[in-house]
Amino acid sequence: MKFETLAIHAGQEADPNNGAVMTPVYLTSTYKQDGIGKPRQGYEYSRTLNPTRKALQDCLAELESGTWGLAFASGMAATDTVLRLLSQGDHVVAGNDVYGGTFRLFDKVLRRFGLDFSFADTTDPENLAEALTPSTRVVWLETPTNPLLSISDIRAVAATVKSHPNKPLLVVDNTFATPYLQRPLELGADLVVHSMTKYLGGHSDVVGGAIVGKDKELGQQLAYLQNAAGAIQGPMDSFLVLRGIKTLPVRMERHAQNAEKIAAYLAQRDDVAALYYPFHESHAQFKLAQRQMKNGGGMISFVLKGGSEAAVRVAEATKIFTLAESLGGVESLIEVPAAMTHLSTQGSPLEVDPGLVRLSVGIENVDDLIADLEQAFGS
Ligand SMILES: *Cc1c(COP(=O)(O)O)cnc(C)c1O
Repeated sequence: MKFETLAIHAGQEADPNNGAVMTPVYLTSTYKQDGIGKPRQGYEYSRTLNPTRKALQDCLAELESGTWGLAFASGMAATDTVLRLLSQGDHVVAGNDVYGGTFRLFDKVLRRFGLDFSFADTTDPENLAEALTPSTRVVWLETPTNPLLSISDIRAVAATVKSHPNKPLLVVDNTFATPYLQRPLELGADLVVHSMTKYLGGHSDVVGGAIVGKDKELGQQLAYLQNAAGAIQGPMDSFLVLRGIKTLPVRMERHAQNAEKIAAYLAQRDDVAALYYPFHESHAQFKLAQRQMKNGGGMISFVLKGGSEAAVRVAEATKIFTLAESLGGVESLIEVPAAMTHLSTQGSPLEVDPGLVRLSVGIENVDDLIADLEQAFGS
């Protein structure tokens, strides 16, 4: 079956008891057993597994071309669970433009547990090769990155990672692209991580995270950690993401159509010093983006010539674009990463330009969105 069909049906079937078309929200913590050690259909306790969460997990597995999926309370909970595969002394190489919260978890929290991190420019696999050490167990990749939307060649990075003697795991945070635009497991990644809070949920009404993979043993280890540490996604939130995913393909098409037009509008403005949109011809990896992704997605960043002051002024003046953190919902959002989502990177090598503005382009009418930006710019 094709992606659009899987998005609506994978992991889900009409309820065998009453025919309910939508997967019920199973608000139960425990399950009746037919005898001691005889749970029905494998359900014993909802931290371990819940039918609503299972439907979402199975759906995610199919959409990402994996064989298993795990749903968590947030993207960070999913990230944290992957890192729990490691032991004291293990080393992780991450992209130097990763999500601010990922950087914070790695650098400020997990270092205290004896894990070691370095950050490299993964857009060039040679840089990555140099950052690998004999202790490297995980390579953490984001593409497109947040907030600069730079693109790494997943296939090339996978080749570099696999040629290293201790075969580190390649983990790709696929939050920005979603499986509709790119499927890292098909390109050699071992694990895909998501913040489902963003495009998968799609309506800014739920927080969630996921890990998807192909290798069975790795799946068992991570399911063990999911149950042991317990940062699971609840049944109501799993239902909301499952519902959001049904429209993922149509939403992603409209996000990208709108974003392409807004990128073209920004590119011809004199007060824009730099534009970052993967499918705009000015993008440093335009060709790679076109090869690797189905479309350019809904995220755009740009630097204003007026610096921080101008960025703040524009972000505070829009009326349809809501000033807010997060991204990936049907409504358009605007933010200034240096002062908001990426504040924790201040003073670090990951620090972002204070004049940078990030847009999460929604699925409203694009003429209204451009008119809103125009009035915010003041001309
Ligand atoms: C938001 C985000 C996360 C963290 O996810 P939460 O659901 O907020 O915990 C991780 N990676 C990327 C790329 C994100 O945008």
